[in-house]
Amino acid sequence: MDKIQEKIRQAGIVGAGGGGFPAHIKAASKVEYVIANGAECEPLIHKDYEVMIRYPEKVVDGVKLLMESTGAKKGIVGIKEKNKEAVDAISGAIHNSRIKIHLLGDFYPSGDEFILVYESTKRLIPPQGIPLDIGIVVSNVETLYNITLASEDQPVTEKFITVAGAVNHPTSFVVPVGMSFRDAIAFAGGVSVKDAGVFVGGIMMGKLEFDLDQPITKTTAGLIVLPKEHILIQRKSKTEQSMRRIGKSACDQCSYCTELCPRYVLGYDVQPHKVMRSLGFTMTGEHIWNQYASLCCACGLCTLYACPENLYPKEACDTAKSDLKEKGIKWSGGKEVTPHPMYEGRRTPLKQLMKRLGIEEYNHPSVFTKKESKPKQVSIPLSQHIGTPAQPTVRVGESVKRGQLIGEIPDGKLGAKVHASIDGVVKSVDGSIVVESI
Ligand code: SF4
Ligand code: SF4
Repeated sequence: MDKIQEKIRQAGIVGAGGGGFPAHIKAASKVEYVIANGAECEPLIHKDYEVMIRYPEKVVDGVKLLMESTGAKKGIVGIKEKNKEAVDAISGAIHNSRIKIHLLGDFYPSGDEFILVYESTKRLIPPQGIPLDIGIVVSNVETLYNITLASEDQPVTEKFITVAGAVNHPTSFVVPVGMSFRDAIAFAGGVSVKDAGVFVGGIMMGKLEFDLDQPITKTTAGLIVLPKEHILIQRKSKTEQSMRRIGKSACDQCSYCTELCPRYVLGYDVQPHKVMRSLGFTMTGEHIWNQYASLCCACGLCTLYACPENLYPKEACDTAKSDLKEKGIKWSGGKEVTPHPMYEGRRTPLKQLMKRLGIEEYNHPSVFTKKESKPKQVSIPLSQHIGTPAQPTVRVGESVKRGQLIGEIPDGKLGAKVHASIDGVVKSVDGSIVVESI
């Protein structure tokens, strides 16, 4: 293992954009390009923007370190053209002709790896493949910032997040990993409505949560608070059975969900309207239709933007994918990918999406707050990554220091180390390690 790869492993870095894949594994690959993902397309979340304008040198150094470890000859930073301050900051930090910026349009989901890779290199990831298959590694800008810190022997103990929506002071800030949603929302001035729900990680791809004692992890991009009566919360709260029932009776096969699907227009055979047909089938027929979900990235556009009947094609695709996985059925479609002739014209502008979502009133700048957030307690999950949960290395009653190792990668397994995010005393050790501050 080379030096930087080992430092990344020691620091417990995982994909901070939401993926959670252990970064030391990516750093071990050999590729041509490193692409920094600064697209940040989830509505109302701006934490990557803040990382780029506040720590451009650290982001660019992270690209250089990853290029060094993977042998990549070229680096690209993908940023939306509208985020001029971020573009200027990163441009000012690139003192290396092998790294360039690729300007992205303000579309959703421009941060999807398949789209980002195509936009910035014109290469197409094979169906069911990963960027590595075509000589590329993609890393979120915060992950790259963490890689620079790791090169200075600093483990991951903090997370950049945005708290926005129905809160008194929407803001982006840094929190210790394991801080509760409740404390983070209080830091943003508290909820501004009587009853609320929280979209964790974003409205489009995040999950709806009502338990505010849940912790912020290494992959949490932000918390979007909305009133309980908001249509997005109402829709997301439906049970799977009720989504299926409505879909079965109301889908008229208009195929808008497919025509506006970003993966479909990029040339992949994702056809949610056909997956919707599987709702009407049993055992034999449904597997045929389910296959059209295999290449879906769960971006949510079909459900939340395209369908005129407010049905749930994305959720039908989620179920189809898990059924296929359970039955061991692999994608058997073609390997050829050719972007749709309407690829450019069918992209979804973020502004239009926000209008359709009914969240325009919450579209305020979430200005960065430097003040440190100091929770009384943190609950640090041992599993914040893809792979096997970390094994605790501390016991109840033990004093820990911020940055101290508290969870180790089990021998021979895929995983990530976990560190204490505050100074304190260990109160409990279970699926999470609870540390009370002293
Ligand atoms: S857009 Fe809605 S109604 Fe039309 S095919 Fe898709 S799920 Fe059915
Ligand atoms: S969620 Fe819907 S729009 Fe998004 S990739 Fe999947 S099928 Fe396409």
